[in-house]
Amino acid sequence: MKLTSPVGEVKGVGPALQKTFESLGIATVQDLLLYYPRKYQDYSKIETIKHIRPGPITVKAEIKDIKGHYVRRGMHITEAVASDETDSVRIVWFNQPYREHQTKRGVEYYIAGNFELSRQRLAIMNPSIELVSDFPVNTARIIPVYKEAKGLKSAQIRRILKQVIPMVDQLPELLPDWIVQDQKLLSRAEALHTIHFPDSSERLKRAKERLGFDEVFELSLASLLNKHDLMNDRAVAVPFKERLAKTFVSHLPFTLTNEQRKSIWQIYLDMQKTRPMNRLLEGDVGSGKTVVAAMAALMAMEQGFQVALMAPTELLARQHAETIYELLQPLGYADQVGLLVGGLKKAQKDLTHHKIKDGTIRFIVGTHALIQEKVDMQQLGLVIIDEQHRFGVDQRKALQAKAGHALHVLNMTATPIPRSLALTLYGELDISVIAHKPQNRKPIKTKIISPHARKTVYETIKKELNDGHQMFVVCPLITESDLLHARSTEKVYEEMKTRDFKKYRVGLLHGKMKAEEKNQVMEQFAAHELDILVSTTVIEVGVNVPNATVMLVENAERFGLAQIHQLRGRVGRSEAQGYCFLMMTDAQKPSQRLRALESSDDGFTLAELDLEIRGPGAIYGTFQHGALDLRMAKLTDSRLISRARNSAQACIDRKENLLKYRELYENVTKLRAVTNLN
Ligand code: ADP
Ligand code: MG
Repeated sequence: MKLTSPVGEVKGVGPALQKTFESLGIATVQDLLLYYPRKYQDYSKIETIKHIRPGPITVKAEIKDIKGHYVRRGMHITEAVASDETDSVRIVWFNQPYREHQTKRGVEYYIAGNFELSRQRLAIMNPSIELVSDFPVNTARIIPVYKEAKGLKSAQIRRILKQVIPMVDQLPELLPDWIVQDQKLLSRAEALHTIHFPDSSERLKRAKERLGFDEVFELSLASLLNKHDLMNDRAVAVPFKERLAKTFVSHLPFTLTNEQRKSIWQIYLDMQKTRPMNRLLEGDVGSGKTVVAAMAALMAMEQGFQVALMAPTELLARQHAETIYELLQPLGYADQVGLLVGGLKKAQKDLTHHKIKDGTIRFIVGTHALIQEKVDMQQLGLVIIDEQHRFGVDQRKALQAKAGHALHVLNMTATPIPRSLALTLYGELDISVIAHKPQNRKPIKTKIISPHARKTVYETIKKELNDGHQMFVVCPLITESDLLHARSTEKVYEEMKTRDFKKYRVGLLHGKMKAEEKNQVMEQFAAHELDILVSTTVIEVGVNVPNATVMLVENAERFGLAQIHQLRGRVGRSEAQGYCFLMMTDAQKPSQRLRALESSDDGFTLAELDLEIRGPGAIYGTFQHGALDLRMAKLTDSRLISRARNSAQACIDRKENLLKYRELYENVTKLRAVTNLN
């Protein structure tokens, strides 16, 4: 048998089981060896029966009086007594009738299970048992628990793994030797052996550390290599014109915050160089990133270069175009701003294409249309990408290909990225942060609401509406579903329109509507022709209606913290007090997680918390195409991260030939495409 052999070749794995393994992503023996446990149960402590306490335990005992019977149709119980020299204990198995005949008498077993109450009597429930004379895999040790599939439980995975585990020695070491030594890491083979068959918790810890190190190391190496390449690319230099910047600022209806100033200054410094800018502008919703983007664009336009701003939705693109038009108007640049989105009429679109081509339009705001259509942007000098994580690498690359040379790239995001994550995943990016909102903003008042209090909250909301303000209502679903116990936009819309808020003008917005309809509804809401907008999370990013002061989130516990934080950023965008009501599904006690939203208004703190509780994959994973599929590494482990990162840097400094380490080379190459933002 080889590492590349199909799992079907392992003894005990027939065609059906092979299919089940494949459904878990396990095709070969190697895949199986690299199938990490999800968690562990510690059955390593062997207790005498006299001393057992409720909880997970292993006893070493003989089994007597074993008898099975059906209590009713489809419900079989096997009961037995296990005895050692100290005492006896009851054992119960549900629906495992084979136990009665498979269990031998007069021999010693390890019996591992949960010692708990069953029908008022303590018993070891559904234990695994193994002969003491065998090498135990499911008892008397720390037991790994895997992600299971129908018809494939962890116990069976462990039994099958036991047969192939010696093959870990055939897996090549992933890292250069000097790193393993410098960092005092377990070898890869030792680590893999240990995660499946740990012999102590100390050793297990070291094995996890080793495998986590690999993950962060690969990510860091990918991003550092990207950075290295970028240094050798050339973009056009955009000189800084102080007078122009000052004139722009003098026309603003507000003063820039210090963080806005610092960010734009960092951007100007970048753009003056021929080394392509690759900067991420991170700022909480409403922190004022658009002004900064407009200032960056202005400088490029002044030099005769074109600027493209790509937004993830048509709604956002339209809003950006309007804002930018207004910001640039006082300087006489407004008619150089053009919008390119899918929903334009043909004649209008043709004209826009024409104007882009001859250079009359210098600031092109659009959606994917910018790359999908044959847009001729030969003088492109700067690309601004809003909500960068919503675009794939290919889309970003396509935009750059239009120019035929490297471009200055400014990525913007309202998703706060904790520093640990930014360092690992976006190591090649320079980062500017606008952490504080403009002074005139009051923090949004956030309150968790039990469904009993719905009517009371509605009264509070009506006061706001009567004062001339508007409200967003966000629901997790578009249409009612029997499967999910959650509210839908359609239902809530009907209820509000015909019952609870029938004196008010209610609108509906969701992702399944046509772009035209969406724009129309959004425009109506922006023009205050609607008081209430019932919507899905499509309004999550960017939507700017300063007169909206109330956000009501239905089934709040279904959303992530960062997501709710983004959502509530849609209100409190003016001097008026903003409110966010988090409506719970049931009258249960709200989680600590949700409570954090009441007490914290800081996107970064909430993101850190989300990261800790739910892991990076859950928060950022969906749009990063698996780059954050960190199975072992904890991004909160800053020591591990800096060790791995330093080793990656050392690897580059030494000019280590990565081709010598094939698996590492392949993994890193894949990751480079994912983490690369330029
Ligand atoms: P975001 O970072 O979410 O994109 P925007 O750029 O849309 O934020 O800004 C939100 C609102 O704040 C806009 O109406 C904008 O005009 C306003 N704004 C931006 N900067 C300032 C400032 N320094 N002082 C006051 N208001 C500002
Ligand atoms: Mg914005």
